[in-house]
Amino acid sequence: MSVTQQQVLDSLGRIKSPRGVALTNANVLSAISASDGKVFFSINVDAAEARAWESIRAEAEAAVRAIPGVTTVMVALTAERKPGSAPPPPPQPSRGTPGVQPAHAHKPPQAGQSPMARQSEIPGVAAVIAVASGKGGVGKSTTALNLALGLRDLGLKVGLLDADIYGPSVPRLTGLRDKPELNDERKMIPLRRFGLAIMSIGFLVEEETAMIWRGPMVMSAVTQMLRDVEWGKLDVLVVDMPPGTGDAQLTLAQNVPLKGAVIVSTPQDLSLIDARRGLAMFKKVNVPVLGIVENMSYFQCPHCGTKSDIFGHGGARHEAEKLGVPFLGEIPLHMAIRATSDAGNPVVDSEPDGPHAAIYRAIAGQVRDQLKGVIAAA
Ligand code: ADP
Repeated sequence: MSVTQQQVLDSLGRIKSPRGVALTNANVLSAISASDGKVFFSINVDAAEARAWESIRAEAEAAVRAIPGVTTVMVALTAERKPGSAPPPPPQPSRGTPGVQPAHAHKPPQAGQSPMARQSEIPGVAAVIAVASGKGGVGKSTTALNLALGLRDLGLKVGLLDADIYGPSVPRLTGLRDKPELNDERKMIPLRRFGLAIMSIGFLVEEETAMIWRGPMVMSAVTQMLRDVEWGKLDVLVVDMPPGTGDAQLTLAQNVPLKGAVIVSTPQDLSLIDARRGLAMFKKVNVPVLGIVENMSYFQCPHCGTKSDIFGHGGARHEAEKLGVPFLGEIPLHMAIRATSDAGNPVVDSEPDGPHAAIYRAIAGQVRDQLKGVIAAA
C-alpha cells in the first residue's frame, strides 16, 4: 500500500503548533517525501523556539507512523537562528524518540568559541573521516567504499555513511536496497554488507527522488544518520560527503567530529582547482587533510594492460606536494572498477587479489597509519 503526501498532510493537519495553529498552516514544513512507505520531511523553526517544538516533532512522527502502509518515518527538527534572536537552549535528551536535535542547537558554541565546539564524538566510534571532492562524478563514492573495504582488510571495524544526500549512490554501489530497522531505543540499525556497517539516505528515500535540501536540512539529515544510528563499536566511520565545497559542506565539516579528510580528484585541472577549494575548506575548520587521491589517474587497457595518460596524469601528486599534504595514491580508470562498482560488487571485495584492490589497500594503509593514535586511544 503506498502512502501519499496528502495522507501525510491530513494527519499533520490534526497536530497543533505551540501557538495553536495547525502544523500544516504554521509555515514550518518542508516538502514531504513519501514513497514506498518511507516518509521524510523536516520541520523548520526558529532556534529560540526549538525546545517547544521537540514534542510536536515527536507527535508528528507518531501520527505519520500510524498511517497504514508507512514503514519508515524520519522527521527532522531543524532550527535556524534568526539574526538578533537569543541563542538556542541546550537540547533536552528525548526518551523514546530518535533524538533529533535542532541542527544548530546541538551543543551551541559559546561566544568566542570556535564552531568546532559544537561537535561531540559518536559513542563507540574511534575516528570519523570524510571522503570529499570538489565536484561530482570524480569517483568519490567509489573511492569511499573501496577505501572502507581496504581499511576492513587491514583488520579494522569499519562503517560507511553515505552523506551524499543530493545523489546517494551507496545503495547502487553496495546492491543494498532494504530499509533499516529500528532497535528498542528507536535508533536505526545500519545495514551490513562486506563486513561493513552501512547507512545511506538512499535507504530511506528513492535514489531517483529529486531532493531539494536547504542548508539546515542537510545538517539535520546527516546529524540524524550519524547519531540516530546504532553504529556499534567502530575503528573508522568513512563519510561519503556531498560533492562540492559550498555552505552545506562547510556546515557538515564544522559539525561532524572529523578526524581527517581524504580529497578525491581526477587529474584534470578544473577538478584540481575544485580539490584545492576542498583543502581550503577543511583547513578553515581545522580538519586535518589525510591526503589526496588521484582517481581515473591513467587509462589502463583492460585487454593488454597498457597505461595511457589520457588526462595528463600526475597533477594531483604535484598539487599535493605543492600544498604540503600527503599524496595517497593513483587509481587507474579501468573497466573493472566501473563494472564492479556499478554492479554492487566493489573491486576490493570482488577481486581481492587483483591490482586495484592492492592500490586501495595501500591507500587505506596510509590512512590507517595517520589515524593510528586515535584508534589506539579508543
Ligand atoms: P562521485 O561519487 O564522485 O559522483 P562515483 O563514485 O559515483 O562518483 O563514480 C562515478 C562513475 O565513475 C561511476 O559509474 C563509477 O563506477 C565510475 N568510476 C569511479 N572511479 C572509477 C575508476 N577508477 N575507473 C573506472 N570507473 C570509475
